Amino acid sequence: MSGIRGTRKKYILIALTASLLLGGAVGVWAARAETVHLTVADVRKSHSLVGQWQFRPGDNSNWASPDYNDSDWANRRVTKQWPIGGYPESRQFAWYRLTLKFDVSAAENRDSLSLLGVRIGKVMDAYELYAGGELVGGVGSLPPLSETNYDRTRVFLIPASAIADDGTLLLALRVWGGTELAVSKWGGGAYEGDFRIGEFATLLQRSFLSEIPGLIASVSFLGFGLYHIYLYHRNRQLRTYLWYGLMALVIGIYGVMVNQWRYSLGWPFVAYEKVEFGMIFLFPAVAIQMMWSLLQLPIGRWLRAYQLSFIAFAILVVLVPGLDIHYYTLRPWQIWSLALLVGIPWMFIREAYSGNAEARTGLVGILVFAAACTNDLLIDFAGWEGTRLVPLGFAAIMLFMAISLANRFTTVFTSLEDEVTQRTAELRIANKHLTESARLDPLTGVLNRRGFSEKAEAEVQRVVRTGRELSIVLADLDNFKAFNDQHGHACGDYVLREAANLLSEGVRSMDSIARWGGEEFMLVLPETSAEGAALLAEKLCSTLEARRFEFGGQRLGVTMTFGLATFRKGETLENCIARADAALYQGKDQGRNRVMVGA
Ligand code: GH3
Ligand code: MG
Ligand code: MG
Repeated sequence: MSGIRGTRKKYILIALTASLLLGGAVGVWAARAETVHLTVADVRKSHSLVGQWQFRPGDNSNWASPDYNDSDWANRRVTKQWPIGGYPESRQFAWYRLTLKFDVSAAENRDSLSLLGVRIGKVMDAYELYAGGELVGGVGSLPPLSETNYDRTRVFLIPASAIADDGTLLLALRVWGGTELAVSKWGGGAYEGDFRIGEFATLLQRSFLSEIPGLIASVSFLGFGLYHIYLYHRNRQLRTYLWYGLMALVIGIYGVMVNQWRYSLGWPFVAYEKVEFGMIFLFPAVAIQMMWSLLQLPIGRWLRAYQLSFIAFAILVVLVPGLDIHYYTLRPWQIWSLALLVGIPWMFIREAYSGNAEARTGLVGILVFAAACTNDLLIDFAGWEGTRLVPLGFAAIMLFMAISLANRFTTVFTSLEDEVTQRTAELRIANKHLTESARLDPLTGVLNRRGFSEKAEAEVQRVVRTGRELSIVLADLDNFKAFNDQHGHACGDYVLREAANLLSEGVRSMDSIARWGGEEFMLVLPETSAEGAALLAEKLCSTLEARRFEFGGQRLGVTMTFGLATFRKGETLENCIARADAALYQGKDQGRNRVMVGA
């Protein structure tokens, strides 16, 4: 799954074929030469030393010496790891030797060899480097101190004195493969990275610079992760952001842990490994959480158990002291997480197929990631010689998940906006209904007292402004109390409604009608003289008298008395109403079912 050292057991057919081919190639190479000839130009460009070294298990201080004859040693390709189990008979010690021969035919060539450097890639678990028989440095400590430190690459300065007069330089690497357990699980020796010779300053600069892009990417992931967690902190509904943030953090921390810059933190080696493995083992758990959340799928019981198992792996490797737990758990974890390599792409394909837009976008990232993982697993399991691609996979996954998230956010935002627009329209209509119904009488549907006041005030204003005429008519049902008593309240209500309808139908559209009291109605008649109003009232009076209302199988009739007043200049509305009321009273007095004009 990651930049993890893997064992080199070859039970896969491809691996067998590959090793056969490789074996052939090595055979051809071995027949050629054991000494590497170098020119000044080679040194300037820096020259790769990945390739043929003389190799011998065992430990002997004479093997550092240029005078020692190693021609009967085996050939071993540097970066080709030791076999599982290593070399217990030599207490996991072995030496690598490489003879270089510089072209020193011109004097200035000799000068250019004064600041040489050798870069040593990753060697498991500790080593010392000798040049021309002198110790120039190492990584970790060999027994009896036994301090493991296998992930570090380093550039060593080669003293000019190490190079013989004839230009010969012998490099010897004294390697301790690690504890029996380490070697039995992971193998040992030089296993990965760049081995090269060149100008010391250039090599040093290059080795730092080459690690900077990875560092920048990792720090970006960390920032990205923290930012998304902060977004979640601000809006707890954005749960996917939390998982996305955690995933970015896990990748970011892992990225720092596989970078050479990690050594500037100054921690003990085992601490780096704890953090690195914690992140590796935790990653599937966070990824499952993130992806299922992104696709808005529930995590079932079995998936949850599977997810928790990764957390258990992570806790175990972090809490158990020492490195042994790392050797024991790496391979089981790799096998255990293989299911995800199939499961997650399958899930995304299925979801994309059923129209999940997030799955469709995410699928691209997932497939790149799965391909990168497969590549790296082949490196670990089948001894593939290739570049590890998982960092690229991480970047792809984070990018496409980010696009998915942004898409989802935009969709949610757009639909929210649409909903707000629709709701606002609905509210506006409802509001209008409310204001209207606040002015209407619920029983008869004509204006109520408040509706009347607004209407009448507006009309009075108009009369004051234009000097036109305005009449009002107060109409009251006759003997309605007795009617109610005789036919019941329901029948009374029905007749009230019918009377209101009759009045409404009998007036012009510019006129208004309001329910003034229980069985009293008020007509507002703009631009109507007293004569006109009287004529209208007479017509209404006789129409009502002639009308029969059907209720409960009975045919019933009612009458109304009308009191009429015409608005006078300088008069208040109340005054005008009082005159209409007085007229109505008179009409009642005079026997009802008639129209009376107020004085
Ligand atoms: P008058 O001819 O003098 O107006 O006699 P009246 O009985 O109509 O007058 P009064 O003011 O004594 O009684 C009004 C009656 O109107 C009282 C009540 O029973 C009836 N009434 C008022 N509001 C409603 C209503 O909403 N529904 C019904 N069914 N009856 C109502
Ligand atoms: Mg009445
Ligand atoms: Mg009345």
